[in-house]
Parts: sequence; structure tokens; C-alpha cells
Amino acid sequence: MNSRRNYDIAFVGLKPGTHEFEYTIDDKFFVEYQEQDFRNCTAHVKLTLDKQNGFMLLKFEIGGKLEVTCDRCGNNLPLELWDDFNLVVKMSDEPDVMNEQEEDPDVYYISKGESHLHIADWIYEFINLSIPMQRMCSDDEMGGPHCNKEVLEMLKKLEEQKPSTNPLWKGLEKFKDLGDN
Ligand SMILES: [Zn+2]
Repeated sequence: MNSRRNYDIAFVGLKPGTHEFEYTIDDKFFVEYQEQDFRNCTAHVKLTLDKQNGFMLLKFEIGGKLEVTCDRCGNNLPLELWDDFNLVVKMSDEPDVMNEQEEDPDVYYISKGESHLHIADWIYEFINLSIPMQRMCSDDEMGGPHCNKEVLEMLKKLEEQKPSTNPLWKGLEKFKDLGDN
């Protein structure tokens, strides 16, 4: 079972200083979240936790890979994950109020009575943030190894027929812009 408890860290029992935790995350991890637009995920998460007096510094290093659907041709596109995220966890008497007020997204408050860090949601968030924004085969690899070449050919033809690439239409658009002002 992929229990969320596997992602709870009993930090009260940790000595001051740094501690490392490693996780391998696959598609099963995401089942309890909303449906994802990626699949075949094998993500490696290395968490370095620096326990200080009254706060903790967390560094999540995300690596691994997953597959998305290419925005251009619809084929399966493998992507590498590679990013890291820092988080400061502070103890507070009123963590909910503090989290509401805190403007720094890298600072998070937990109750002074809390004994565990629940990191599943952070892992979820950081893996999602590690996915490159551009989910398509690059232009220069037009029809690269993972692309659907037939779809690309068709898109190229459509692109050529677009009015905006026709100089006559471009001229007319200029007038339209003037009219709007
Ligand atoms: Zn593609």
C-alpha cells in the first residue's frame, strides 16, 4: 500500500543537524490526488532536513522522469525531472493564522505540539512544479524521436495557410489595430 504515513517524518525524535530521506515516487502515489496529466512517473526525491532550534530547513531535490502528452502532436513525450525546492518550517502556537498571513511561499508553520512532518503534499506539489512548462518536442527536432511525424506535417501545412503569414492579411491587420486605438 502506498500509505501517506510513509511520508510522515517523526522529527521530534531527530537530533539537531541534518538528516537525509529518500523516496521513489511512481504513479500509485498520485492516485489519491486529482487525475494527473502525466504517467509512467519514476521520480526520486531526496529530502535534506536540517533540524534547528525552533525551525527546520527542508531541501527537496527532485529527479527522475515521467511522460506527458506532446501539446503539438499528441504523442507520448518523456520528460526529465530536475529541480530543487527549499522550505522553512517554523513552529507556532497558531500555525493556521500564521500560514494565512505569511507571504513567503517558502515558509510554512506547524503547531508547536506537532511531532510529525507530513510531506506527501509537498512531494506532490514539487514533482508537479518540476515538470517543464513546455510540453512538446522542440522545433528543431520537428519530428524528433518521440513526435508523431504525420501530425506534424499536417500542422506545418495548416501553419502555412494561416492568414497572418499572408502579407496581404498582415497589412489589413495593421489597419484593424489602428481602428481599435
Ligand atoms: Zn510532438
